[in-house]
Amino acid sequence: MSEHEDVIIGLEIHIQLTALKTKLFCSCSSDYRGKAPNTHTCPICLGLPGSLPVTNEKAIKFATRLALALKCTINERFYFFRKNYYYPDLPKGFQISQYNRAGGKAFADRGVIEIEVDGNIKEIQLNRIHLEEDPARIVHEGSITTSPHALIDYNRSGTTLIEVVSEPDMRSPAEAREYLKQLMSIVQYTEICDPNLEGAFRVDANISIKGHDRSEVKNINSIKEVENALSYEIKRQKLAIKRGAILIQETRHWDGDKTISLRTKEFEADYRYFPEQDLVPFETDEQFVDKIRIKLPEMPKERKERYQRDYLLNEFDAGILVLDKQIADFFEEGIKLEKSFRPEEYKLYCNWLMNQVSRWLNENNTNIANTKLKPEQIVDIVKALKENVISSKIANSFIEEMMKGTSIQEIMKKSGKKVISDENKLESLCKEVIKENPKIAADYKKNPKAIQALKGKVMGKTRGQADPKKTEELLKILLK
Ligand code: ZN
Ligand code: MN
Repeated sequence: MSEHEDVIIGLEIHIQLTALKTKLFCSCSSDYRGKAPNTHTCPICLGLPGSLPVTNEKAIKFATRLALALKCTINERFYFFRKNYYYPDLPKGFQISQYNRAGGKAFADRGVIEIEVDGNIKEIQLNRIHLEEDPARIVHEGSITTSPHALIDYNRSGTTLIEVVSEPDMRSPAEAREYLKQLMSIVQYTEICDPNLEGAFRVDANISIKGHDRSEVKNINSIKEVENALSYEIKRQKLAIKRGAILIQETRHWDGDKTISLRTKEFEADYRYFPEQDLVPFETDEQFVDKIRIKLPEMPKERKERYQRDYLLNEFDAGILVLDKQIADFFEEGIKLEKSFRPEEYKLYCNWLMNQVSRWLNENNTNIANTKLKPEQIVDIVKALKENVISSKIANSFIEEMMKGTSIQEIMKKSGKKVISDENKLESLCKEVIKENPKIAADYKKNPKAIQALKGKVMGKTRGQADPKKTEELLKILLK
């Protein structure tokens, strides 16, 4: 990481508790996605004068779950604070949040997330996690620059956020990416939020070059975009320093290919934090926390270790496999269906999920739960590969049909593709190819690698159905 030693990155992530049915301070439904605008509101989340908030106890339970998963120290007594600022999406003129100064405390302090970049393991320390309400949603028709007006949907107003604030421990966009991946995974495992939902996982990135003021890039929605925005900012800031410009502390917006300055000279004091006098201090105790600790589900790290132990997957494979809980659950379902599997088959199954399936999901921008793919299909593919009924090339060509839920048997029947292992047939094919490619065949005497080119021709003639191992053996014999 030497190229980035002077880079300082800290991340603030807003995680929406999408598994919570109601809002943080009222009983309106917090499920606003796809709902008619301004239908999930009441005087409290509209911020009408005289309305009084009441804290949602389940939100505290969810926050406790995340705090435990992140190994934070939970503060047993805390107040909510008002963070004052004016914005159309914030009808009260303040956001109910938490503050860790002026006698206030965050929900929980410290905590740690372990990341691995280029084989190096590093612990990123957390500063704190706190609870706060989400503002309403501003909707621009078309784009923010061309829309003639802004529309406001108060359905989101008052839904629950947990903000996770890291220490400025990251030194490169790649470290930030790994940190986000791990955090997203832990959040998914705690089942308090579905991080794949649009807007459920929003990142503010603080970035500076050692010795200079920082900029904060607000509201970035995906890991890839965070990485791009950080790379852009590093270049921009370094160039400005080189030119002798003085960087000022500012808030910037990520535009998809560049950052744009939004506002400068915005400091904590501008928010005039003070205690929310409409809410009593909240108290938890050891018993409350222990009850939640006992029910804490298995976390990705434990699951990874279990996969290494029970299925003899290597550390790398197990680490990637457990990252997305849906994929890991899918893996286990398949494993349970097929008792005869041994380490070799576990590995094949895992590879199929990590390569073919993950690639398809990425390309189609979806997740496994949204597809018709079933664990038994992967089990059948693994068996067919193992028994050499199909080659991996043929298997790979099945992915599109598999995603529609079609069984492997049916796909094989429909495509008519299966491995050609009949020696007579293969031999005549090999002879044909040698005859057609005398130059390559002659080249083989000096360059044994030339056999791969001939093998490729046989595979091509059979649309990938020739048994690759047998073909190679036969070619060797024929070329002697
Ligand atoms: Zn409400
Ligand atoms: Mn916040």
